[in-house]
Amino acid sequence: MHTKTIAQLAAGLKAGEFSSVELTQHYINRIQTFDNGLNSYISLTEERALAQAKRADERIAAGKAHVLTGIPVAQKDIFCSDGVKTSCGSKMLDNFIAPYDASVIESFNNAGSVMLGKTNMDEFAMGSSNETSFYGPVKNPWNVDCVPGGSSGGSAASVAARLAPASTGTDTGGSIRQPAALCNLTGLKPSYGRVSRYGMIAFASSLDQAGTFTQTAEDAALMLSVMAGLDVRDSTSIDEPVPDYSASLNNDVKGLKVGLPKEYFADGLDADVAKRVDDAISEYKKLGAEFFDISLPNTHLSVPAYYIVAPAECSSNLSRFDGVRFGYRCEEPKDLEDLYKRSRGEGFGSEVKRRILVGAYALSSGYYDAYYLKAQKIRRLIANDFTEAFKQVDVIMSPTTPTPAFKVGEKDDDPISMYYSDIYTIAVNLAGLPGISVPCGFVNALPVGLQIIAPYFAEAKLLNVAHQYQQVTDWHQQMPETFK
Ligand code: GLN
Repeated sequence: MHTKTIAQLAAGLKAGEFSSVELTQHYINRIQTFDNGLNSYISLTEERALAQAKRADERIAAGKAHVLTGIPVAQKDIFCSDGVKTSCGSKMLDNFIAPYDASVIESFNNAGSVMLGKTNMDEFAMGSSNETSFYGPVKNPWNVDCVPGGSSGGSAASVAARLAPASTGTDTGGSIRQPAALCNLTGLKPSYGRVSRYGMIAFASSLDQAGTFTQTAEDAALMLSVMAGLDVRDSTSIDEPVPDYSASLNNDVKGLKVGLPKEYFADGLDADVAKRVDDAISEYKKLGAEFFDISLPNTHLSVPAYYIVAPAECSSNLSRFDGVRFGYRCEEPKDLEDLYKRSRGEGFGSEVKRRILVGAYALSSGYYDAYYLKAQKIRRLIANDFTEAFKQVDVIMSPTTPTPAFKVGEKDDDPISMYYSDIYTIAVNLAGLPGISVPCGFVNALPVGLQIIAPYFAEAKLLNVAHQYQQVTDWHQQMPETFK
């Protein structure tokens, strides 16, 4: 059962080939067998999952099912889930039982899907390797000496090892697309505002966006249909109609205009990764797509601008974790100041502290104009680059990451090199655009991802373009030998 996609599982449930309880139990067994070596889950919500599965079976029997009814899904531990520990990968929230459901969780509940558990992640979603989690690193199912990418590393590893048919993630600078590329998955980051951020623990509010990890673009369309839409509880949620994402998957891509930004194929790109991306481009040419060289001239400013904007917003967002209202509190504080200092000092890990320090500095008086305001202006230039490009082309393609998965520990002492693993994904967040990563081959038995970027709210186009490629290639069907 675990090799099937959501679409296939939904058909199986509908035809009565298996029940949701059987399916859920199968995944729970797999998690118990395989997850010790991967560490992809922080919490397994077995009892709740089986109860949800039982209700799903009743709903299917009553003929009131949604496509996702009875389908198990793993949720990133950044989404508040009522009555379940929601840690955000941090010691700070190790004792936090959320008192309500995030909008994303609520949407899956309403659709009748089953939450298997909460997946591991970099602390407060800061990282590109899932090594900053309080709960320990996540391993890449393709090679356990390598990282799965981050920050949604647990969500990616769980689906790659088929310990869940699909999962959710969040992408602030690449945290869905990068781990999807490193784990051979389809990873979708929707437009900013497409999916509600209500109940999703904030890292950098103007960049954070929830999305999905699936085997196929077809499954991503099903997942997005559940998650997308206006939510008045999130003031940045957008009132745009939600199209039927599955309806346009089969449109052909003949005459599709694709831009290849020269800055995304420059120095720093691994030659073998470049070859796999070239092969994907050749496939699209066979399908009738037309390619154009384009330029996104401010690309080199995206990582520096991001590392001002994201830390600035995180320093403000994370000020709520003060040891007073919820979360970790130090033992026997001497006075209020000691309580703040030690609770935050002991509760946060070093990467989070680094970001808070950088952000507080960039926002401080005298530096605000020089750093924060400047970064915001650069952000506008980067968004304008895309707007100009989309006057000439329908979508943009590039590698998702400059290299395949790197070794656990390899970038420990070099945060800047870690930051550059998002070089091709970050600008998309700064501009608020939708992007997807699809499997396009292997280098030394490690997966490579092709990134496709579309204009605002053109997720249907993005999914269609990805789906057409998956009709003529089988990279996305490959799974790691050890987890078969
Ligand atoms: N790797 C980037 C960072 O560390 C992006 C993280 C994310 O998208 N959540 O900030």
